[in-house]
Amino acid sequence: MIIVGLTGGIGSGKTTVAKLFESLNIPIYIADVEAKLLMNTSTGIKEKLVELFGEKAYLNDELNRPFIADTIFNNKSYLKKMNAIVHPEVGTHFKQWLAQQNSPYVIKEAAIIFEHQKQSQYDLIISVIADEDKRLQRVINRDQSTPEKVLAIMKNQMSDIDKVKLSDFVIVNNDKSTLKKQVQKIHKSILKHIKNTTI
Ligand code: ATP
Repeated sequence: MIIVGLTGGIGSGKTTVAKLFESLNIPIYIADVEAKLLMNTSTGIKEKLVELFGEKAYLNDELNRPFIADTIFNNKSYLKKMNAIVHPEVGTHFKQWLAQQNSPYVIKEAAIIFEHQKQSQYDLIISVIADEDKRLQRVINRDQSTPEKVLAIMKNQMSDIDKVKLSDFVIVNNDKSTLKKQVQKIHKSILKHIKNTTI
């Protein structure tokens, strides 16, 4: 079974694209969603986060997101430390999930692959790209966020031009009506790639 990475900048449409692969019966793993779940359920993560942030890290057994966000905002080094706790646990969880799948390939959606040089964890990589103004507007609408917050995140992500150079496939998501066709075409190419590399 091969692992296909699905990446792209904030608001590019990764999850929207992942759901289209799911409709083709391809198992999808959304790293961000799983990380959020694990932060509330994994005792290992909980213990380490309390050690890092103190008892206030959890409120009624749920991650105290506003407190964590404030702490990270005031001291950026906390983000790296939190990632160092959460990412390995997500990696282990993904391996357990993968062992239960029965499909020619799986899709793992992760916003950050190239930025952290994680390409070697994937057999193929798909990047979703879209015009910056469209991404900005979509995220503002979805999260009731501000342009400043979204632009600050974009600034820390690799540009679409650089991502395209490093990707095996690219999906242009400026217009929802073309998405399904692009996904079907890539799905066929991946299946062909698997056939050609396993003979
Ligand atoms: P994030 O990086 O924040 O996790 P994402 O890359 O997974 O985001 P989505 O959540 O799939 O992106 O899309 C962001 C928002 O834009 C969603 O509300 C989605 O419904 C909407 N959206 C996605 N694609 C399009 C499109 N082509 N036209 C209009 N809206 C879209």
